[in-house]
Amino acid sequence: MAANTHLFGDKETNNWFKACIGLNVTKEGLTNFLCAELQKVHIVVGNSCGNCPIENLIQCPTNPYCNIRKRNYCPFHKSQKPQPCPICDNVKHNIILHHRYGRPSWRNTRAEKWALNYWEIGKCYLPPDGYSSISSVQESDFNGVISIMLNCLHFQTCLSPLCLSPPPPDKQCPLEKVRQIGRDVRHTSDCKVTDADLQDYFKKLSTLLADPPCLQQDPSAIIACKRLSDLQNDPVSFEELGKLLKDAKKAGECFSEKAERTLAEALQTLDVTTLFGEQRLKKKTEVGKQRLQSKTKLGEHRLERKTTFCEQRLQSKTKYGEQCLENKAFFGEQRLQRKTQHGEERIKSKAQYGEQRIEIRINKAVQCLDSNVNDGTQRIEISVQHGIESIERIARGSKQNCTSRLRTRGSRFSPSFGETLQ
Ligand SMILES: [Zn+2]
Ligand SMILES: [Zn+2]
Repeated sequence: MAANTHLFGDKETNNWFKACIGLNVTKEGLTNFLCAELQKVHIVVGNSCGNCPIENLIQCPTNPYCNIRKRNYCPFHKSQKPQPCPICDNVKHNIILHHRYGRPSWRNTRAEKWALNYWEIGKCYLPPDGYSSISSVQESDFNGVISIMLNCLHFQTCLSPLCLSPPPPDKQCPLEKVRQIGRDVRHTSDCKVTDADLQDYFKKLSTLLADPPCLQQDPSAIIACKRLSDLQNDPVSFEELGKLLKDAKKAGECFSEKAERTLAEALQTLDVTTLFGEQRLKKKTEVGKQRLQSKTKLGEHRLERKTTFCEQRLQSKTKYGEQCLENKAFFGEQRLQRKTQHGEERIKSKAQYGEQRIEIRINKAVQCLDSNVNDGTQRIEISVQHGIESIERIARGSKQNCTSRLRTRGSRFSPSFGETLQ
């Protein structure tokens, strides 16, 4: 939402809202940095076993968790008794060593998640109570984020010496002063901030966001710095105010009564304004719709015109194509006919020539056969003649022979026989 407004006629109340938003913006600008650094702390404190809940790792009784007066009943250890674990005790020891005051907020943390979740380590450096259900840096509030940076000694290595000197809990420590801004704004009795105070707040917050060497180069911190300077000069925006009110509700931050009332009123005003905005939006939407419709109609007309034109071109092209195709087909047919005719003629002449050659061959063969037959017949006749003559000769020869032999034999038996034969 781009609309900005002076929601309240009172300048100082507006300043108070700006201060609230400024704290939120700063917290968001610090989130990336905090996550990155807590991951380093997570590595430094070492790995836990992953099974021990925090109750196992705390002796009973331990102040302020256990009820020292009632010896036989401890509300902290009612479900889990103390049970030493060398691995987790080592991590716990390292967490204590990293705590500026040696008093980690054990009630906030779930030790069984230490191994996997750096935020469960980070929660040990939060204020003692009220953060156990906060599951990430992003969900945490401004006070929580600054408290971790103050309480965890690791941040001495990544914040400038100037930011932490004099060291906490000295009220003159710049980071302590930043935390104090949060407290002053939340616990206000009148929800008013003077121009001078607002300027001072924003200067301190901007200085922290531009702290060398780390934050100075952190993209989120750079963006936050820019937003702070815009916020200082521009009216409060709906968007940021809405976000502030939503975040304030979610984080359950501890506000003064007056602050809570002012926030609730702002929420109402915002609702009314939002309603007004919605009406304007509706009107705009209606206008937009109409414009869209008329544009759509115009577009449709143009599209139709174009379509018609394209169709006509397509038709004429198709017609031309068809003619071309017909011409080609006609020529093709003629050529085919010519070729066919030519082919037929060639086949016919070839066939004729073939037939003639076959006839000639047949005639030759027949003549050859005839002469062969004649020749054969003559030869057979001659052979037969020869045969007959030869048979006759043999027959004559053998008759004479036979007769003479019979004569000889017959004269041996009866002289008349020889005569009979003759
Ligand atoms: Zn106990
Ligand atoms: Zn363990």
